[in-house]
Amino acid sequence: MLSIVVTPIGNLSDITYRAVETLKSADLILCEDTRHSAVLFARYGITAPTRAYEKFSESKQVEKIADMLAEGKNIALVSDAGTPVISDPGNALVKCLKARGLEYTVVGSGCAAISALVLSGFDASSFCFVGFLPEKDADRKRLIGRFASLRSTLIFYIAPHDVQKDVAFLGETLGERKACLVREISKIYEDKIDFLLPNIPESATLKGEMVLVVEGAVESEALNKLTVREHFEKYISDGLDEKDAMKAVARDRGVHKSEIYAEIKKRN
Ligand code: SAM
Repeated sequence: MLSIVVTPIGNLSDITYRAVETLKSADLILCEDTRHSAVLFARYGITAPTRAYEKFSESKQVEKIADMLAEGKNIALVSDAGTPVISDPGNALVKCLKARGLEYTVVGSGCAAISALVLSGFDASSFCFVGFLPEKDADRKRLIGRFASLRSTLIFYIAPHDVQKDVAFLGETLGERKACLVREISKIYEDKIDFLLPNIPESATLKGEMVLVVEGAVESEALNKLTVREHFEKYISDGLDEKDAMKAVARDRGVHKSEIYAEIKKRN
């Protein structure tokens, strides 16, 4: 799998034991800048092979990296400092792995919100931390009103006993947006559940600690300029299954999902 390894933003002693172990045992470490990371690697005796994974060439590299992962290679990703994916080229790689159903995880983070954002594969270029929703209905509505029209990815903390109620509320107020419930980060049962608000799958395990990541308000105008097939493929590459992708296309275009279904099936 791909390990997205958090490295210190300053003091090199801030790295975690697991991050060092992961880097030592990787078949390959992808670095934003290999010379920059060499200083950290020398300090901890990390001798795994390195390769540059940098801005502007990432779109050429992601499929090849995904192929190596599919072959069973253990690859680590580091940025110059801090959490890969946040303001660096990592987001493109995570999106590709998610679309191809390949495994990835975050190693060494100290914040559930940031780890969940990284794991969700949603747009990390702009995001808003909302935290826990208030208990009272009026307070929830007032709070969500501040975030509903933002194009930024939204991050919510969720208590397990509130998950159904919170997801239903967000479906009512934000509409059928893509969401990813990220559970038990860095623990044995870490997992991600992708769905369209508010349709959380009945089979989903809703126990443990969880963060809900929700896509920002969609710029549907741009998507609606695509053909129905391209629009549908965009959602599939974002990680939605066929049913949810058709629903999302229907929502953006303001038509019934049966129309989209007919169009997609016609061309299959
Ligand atoms: N200070 C912590 C941080 O930096 O993430 C958050 C504290 S907050 C009181 C606790 C909430 O964080 C949990 O209800 C859950 O939403 C989230 N959380 C903490 N650990 C988590 C984990 N391992 N996986 C998923 N969510 C987690």
